[in-house]
Amino acid sequence: MTLPTDPVANLAALIRCASVTPAEGGALSALEDMLKPLGFSVERPVFSEAGTPDIENLYARRSGNGPHLMFAGHTDVVPVGDESSWTHPPFAAEIAKGEMFGRGAVDMKGGIACFIAAVARHVDKMDGPKGSVSLLITGDEEGPAINGTTKLLEWAAAKGEKWDASIVGEPTNPEALGDMIKIGRRGSLSGSVIVNGRQGHAAYPQLADNPVRGLVSLVDGLLHPVFDKGTTDFQPTNLEVTSIDVGNPATNVIPAKATATFNIRFNDAWTAETIQAEIHNRLDQAAKRKKYRTGKKTPVDYELVWRDRPSHVFLTRDDRLVEALTGSVKAVTGRTPALSTSGGTSDARFIKDYCPVVEFGLVGKTMHMVDERVALADLETLTQIYQRFIEDWFERGLP
Ligand SMILES: [Zn+2]
Repeated sequence: MTLPTDPVANLAALIRCASVTPAEGGALSALEDMLKPLGFSVERPVFSEAGTPDIENLYARRSGNGPHLMFAGHTDVVPVGDESSWTHPPFAAEIAKGEMFGRGAVDMKGGIACFIAAVARHVDKMDGPKGSVSLLITGDEEGPAINGTTKLLEWAAAKGEKWDASIVGEPTNPEALGDMIKIGRRGSLSGSVIVNGRQGHAAYPQLADNPVRGLVSLVDGLLHPVFDKGTTDFQPTNLEVTSIDVGNPATNVIPAKATATFNIRFNDAWTAETIQAEIHNRLDQAAKRKKYRTGKKTPVDYELVWRDRPSHVFLTRDDRLVEALTGSVKAVTGRTPALSTSGGTSDARFIKDYCPVVEFGLVGKTMHMVDERVALADLETLTQIYQRFIEDWFERGLP
């Protein structure tokens, strides 16, 4: 039996499945075909929720006596955009000048292809690790992410699955393989501030209450002063106002309502709850200021609406896990990866509730772009890094 030891062949098989969220596109079947010969038992639960498309997911486990390592990722991909702008078709896995083209090449079918090749080589070499390896693969990372990783984790945990560590194969390297391991992520929260004023004639402001003046006060209060100067492991907390909406077509009318929407990325000096309290406090203080609203006796009349679920900040403090991965990157590439908590959120934010988690994958430069592609040399290098990491992590055993 031929084992899936070649990451290039694995990736080609996956790219040829047009698995744009929410379509499975044959990608999970392709994975199952690779994993079964390696001794994995494979399950493919489908999750549903009203108002969102049903999503098929995959959980595969190769059981052994010893610790349990979970690889997490997603086979769904973002849409191709303007297909005619692609140099090579997005689902053909064509190779040119040492690179494979295709949607998902780096985000993140490539990472999955390399991890499977790494396990296959390990199985080939020494009959697999002394412990359990599982793959937790969702088809709903790029979409609403409702029927994906969160439910898959709950489903597996309810069956008694327990993990000692997890690695997420998202593309973490900005420029070259070996640049960066992610060991945590900032939290994220979004909200809208709606200011209620009183409509009127622009020439008689004393008879109206311009909500734009109130909103300027509140936005000013949100932006100043800085929240913090950063912590040992994290960048400074930052708030961005992402939209200001009044929707008033008339130049001589003071509008009745004005809204601002913001997103805040916060570090480990805060929790979602303390940052929410800080925002409330800042708005209450700013509402009383008269800078933009001279002559008004009442504070700005506003409502604050939180949007979506907050993403919680986390930092992985498992030194053995971080060292095993850092050491493997160094041994294979000769480079010392930065340990970073930068960037957006990822599914690691859900996994961290079950076990320590780190993230390392391919170079992310072309992700979500036309002509997404990966160097074949990078696929080989990442496979070697993953194999070394698997061997080292199981070698270390549990603390
Ligand atoms: Zn991704």
